[in-house]
Amino acid sequence: MWQSEVRVDLDAVRANVALLRTRTAAQIMAVVKSDGYGHGMVPCARAALEAGATWLGVATLGEALAVRAAGITAPMLSWLHAPGLDFAAGITANVDLSVSSRRSLDEIVAAATIVDRPARIHLKIDSGMGRGGAAPADWAALVEAAAKAQADGHVEIIGVWSHLASADDPDPSSVDRQLAAFTDGLDAAARLGVTPQLRHLANSAALLARPDTHFDLVRPGLAVYGLSPIAGNTFDLRPAMSVRARVALVKRVPAGQGVSYGQTYVTPRETTVALIPIGYADGVPRAASGVGPVALGGRTHTIAGRVCMDQFVLDVGDLPVQPGDVAVLFGGNAGDPHADEWAAVCDTINHEIVARMGSARVPRVYEGERGS
Ligand SMILES: *Cc1c(COP(=O)(O)O)cnc(C)c1O
Repeated sequence: MWQSEVRVDLDAVRANVALLRTRTAAQIMAVVKSDGYGHGMVPCARAALEAGATWLGVATLGEALAVRAAGITAPMLSWLHAPGLDFAAGITANVDLSVSSRRSLDEIVAAATIVDRPARIHLKIDSGMGRGGAAPADWAALVEAAAKAQADGHVEIIGVWSHLASADDPDPSSVDRQLAAFTDGLDAAARLGVTPQLRHLANSAALLARPDTHFDLVRPGLAVYGLSPIAGNTFDLRPAMSVRARVALVKRVPAGQGVSYGQTYVTPRETTVALIPIGYADGVPRAASGVGPVALGGRTHTIAGRVCMDQFVLDVGDLPVQPGDVAVLFGGNAGDPHADEWAAVCDTINHEIVARMGSARVPRVYEGERGS
């Protein structure tokens, strides 16, 4: 018998990838970083590939090697590397590596020399986000150095890419500016003789809202898991994650009963309280104290008082709730609260709500798993 669980519907992942395919002619790189946004990296990678994604995207080299260790051979890019990693292992495992600086190019060339095999690289330009990627002023020198490394047989330049800061913004001007800077970067690379097979820029929001950013490959993460990057439009995506817990204890308490740490909630009348055994150590944001919506007994309740490390309380009034009944924090079925509502009340984004969910003591259960 389970007490709390994170349930992941792999058919929803497949349906979302199929839906995304109808919205672009570009190849789809399913982004499965951070354990598939909390949904499970390897099962979600498999489901996305089954539905027609042709690439996988991860942040770290460690994530990439874990995908390979699971036997997945699809093309894959990793893009966030501190110096000193085992790039030789990445090259040997056929992991494409993002390169944003001369320093990292030199390190990858050295690794390629050791394993005697060209590294597959994607050169990244900062088109305006101000995070990863080479600054435009450093771009030509990076492209030149990479072109020389390619001529020497140390690297193969597979892609040129960048990332968007505000593709979810209804004001298009930020994407317009980044698109222009990216195109300038591509033109500069072409003048230096570098014309990669894959140019890529779009995340989920740009995939759904800006077809002019699709180029050869798009990199959706959030939408693969059925959440929308754009408030107010679901795009018919299906949330893949449900978080549930079974009521551990039910009791009647009088009016005026303070509930949970700090007693920030006080019962307004005699009522039934239900103890839900999942807490902030399991990914339930403590910021949901007094505001998080939870479905139980056919109604949606607001968390009464503070979320604790392991548990929280619902005031269910006079509903006939029993120990063992299933409370749903959020999910994809009719009547379930939505991860978007959790994001709104916790003053964060839906990415964070799902990515942080789960712990060693909360099993992740898959629906729709196929034999692999
Ligand atoms: C996380 C990430 C994505 C996916 O972004 P979503 O908004 O979840 O679609 C794409 N590209 C890069 C570089 C990322 O870090």
